[in-house]
Amino acid sequence: MARRVTIVGAGPGGLAAALLLARRGADVTLIERRDRVGGRSAVLERDGFRFDTGPTFFLYPRILEEIFAACGERLADHVDLRRLDPMYRLVFEAGGELRASDRLEELQRQVAALNPHDAAALPAFLEDGRRKLEAFRPVLENPFAGVGDYLRPDVMKSLRYLRPFSSVDRDLCRFFDDERVRLAFSFQSKYLGMSPFRCPSLFTILAYLEYGHGVYHPIGGCAAVMEAMAGLARRMGVDIRLQTEVTGIEFAGRRAKAVVTPDGRHETDALVIGADFANTMTRLVPDALRRRWTDARLERKAFSCSTFMLWLGLDGTTDQLDHHTIFLAEDYQRNIRQIEDGRELPDRPSFYVQNAGVTDPTLAPRGGSTLYVLVPVPHRSPHIDWSRERERYKALVYDRLAETLGLTDLRRRVRSETVFTPDDWQARLHVYRGATFNLAHTLGQMLHLRPNNRFEDLDGVYLVGGGTHPGSGLPVIFEGARITTRLVAEDLALSPLALPEIGGLRAAE
Ligand SMILES: Cc1cc2nc3c(=O)[nH]c(=O)nc-3n(C[C@H](O)[C@H](O)[C@H](O)COP(=O)(O)OP(=O)(O)OC[C@H]3O[C@@H](n4cnc5c(N)ncnc54)[C@H](O)[C@@H]3O)c2cc1C
Repeated sequence: MARRVTIVGAGPGGLAAALLLARRGADVTLIERRDRVGGRSAVLERDGFRFDTGPTFFLYPRILEEIFAACGERLADHVDLRRLDPMYRLVFEAGGELRASDRLEELQRQVAALNPHDAAALPAFLEDGRRKLEAFRPVLENPFAGVGDYLRPDVMKSLRYLRPFSSVDRDLCRFFDDERVRLAFSFQSKYLGMSPFRCPSLFTILAYLEYGHGVYHPIGGCAAVMEAMAGLARRMGVDIRLQTEVTGIEFAGRRAKAVVTPDGRHETDALVIGADFANTMTRLVPDALRRRWTDARLERKAFSCSTFMLWLGLDGTTDQLDHHTIFLAEDYQRNIRQIEDGRELPDRPSFYVQNAGVTDPTLAPRGGSTLYVLVPVPHRSPHIDWSRERERYKALVYDRLAETLGLTDLRRRVRSETVFTPDDWQARLHVYRGATFNLAHTLGQMLHLRPNNRFEDLDGVYLVGGGTHPGSGLPVIFEGARITTRLVAEDLALSPLALPEIGGLRAAE
């Protein structure tokens, strides 16, 4: 009889795990409390407009291509991915701008306009990123359950790149003098919800992922990728149950035996948790059963920042904006301090705007367009009362868009407006403290120090998603799902994956 696997949460981690486990012959049930798949990567549909809730940068498609290949499919047959050039526009409040291109000559031209010396350092910087990513592949592709895992030769080799006492910004000082150029290659640490001044130097690979492998927009948004994964999973026999919340987990000792939903009990041979880690632990797993990740320990952990969101459906188009614009505040360090301290809201924040209509006509009704505005803010803290701040901060963001990017007519053109604060991330998407990018990626919370893929506190319980190794961000989450499902397969003696090759890429394992 097929082994039963239950997955909680149809975010990207849960969906990727469902595909890989179904392919290995498991009987998979994927349980999702919302009415749609995708989690933080789901679609938000309002007044005829379609927005991505979270991810808008689709990076490094190779991993998902390999997962589809392992299922005997081609990603390109399911999702229309468009490579963007320029990848995005950076606007520095301190003066100057840069259109990020993955063509070296063009990038050198753009950087030279900011600082000619720094343009000359680009080939060395990109080569460093390529080597770092190559060296780190074994770290990103394998589980870390304890210090023994550091002794593997491939891992030992990569650790010299870790430069544990260096941050992303400090590492970039080896190449670039101009603070704006360093910001251009370090703001990506915000993808992990972290400051470039504290984020471990390893994460300069995030910029390399863009410059070396491109930034993509999936037609229909990143949510369309989630819908494609769910469609394939259903065809492969996965039982996806929407609008069904897991309200309890039954244990025999420390072994998970069944999940409880309003429909009843579902016995399982293995339980994969794809829902937000800290939220699930504190809500569904009794504190007394946890050895390492107790409520008290979780309380002391570092969590990522949160985001204040504005999703706007507009009359007409906003032709002066590129597909992606990242606006970096003049006093970036102060902006970061305000986000990390959590005592006050950034008063002159950096922000990101997506004007996807320039690439993708499917997101808005005829004659309209969408804007997605993201402002990094502190995660929930006792010092900030969003019920009082929400309207004031929304007005501040509209004013800032007008004064910095010349978007003076937005209020007049708005046909649909949706606002999200850290409180909404917690209340509506069940994100612990509204920390949108999960546990912070500090060295003390990475590798074996992050909640393990085969969850160390319980038996028969596995983790996927941004809360486990290797971490947050779509390609990393997909890689994590491959690691986790390998462990489930070992423990349940599932069939090996048949591994078709696509386009010369090495397939899933
Ligand atoms: C604003 C924002 C922007 C981002 N931008 C990018 C980007 O540009 N590029 C990128 O690569 N990444 C980005 N990310 C990060 C990351 O890719 C996403 O957050 C991703 O969706 C996290 O996936 P996950 O697998 O951890 O699960 P989640 O997306 O958190 O999904 C978990 C699912 O579990 C469900 N669930 C929770 N509790 C239960 C329960 N008890 N029973 C049943 N179901 C439950 C939830 O409803 C949810 O659907 C962004 C994130 C955010 C928030």
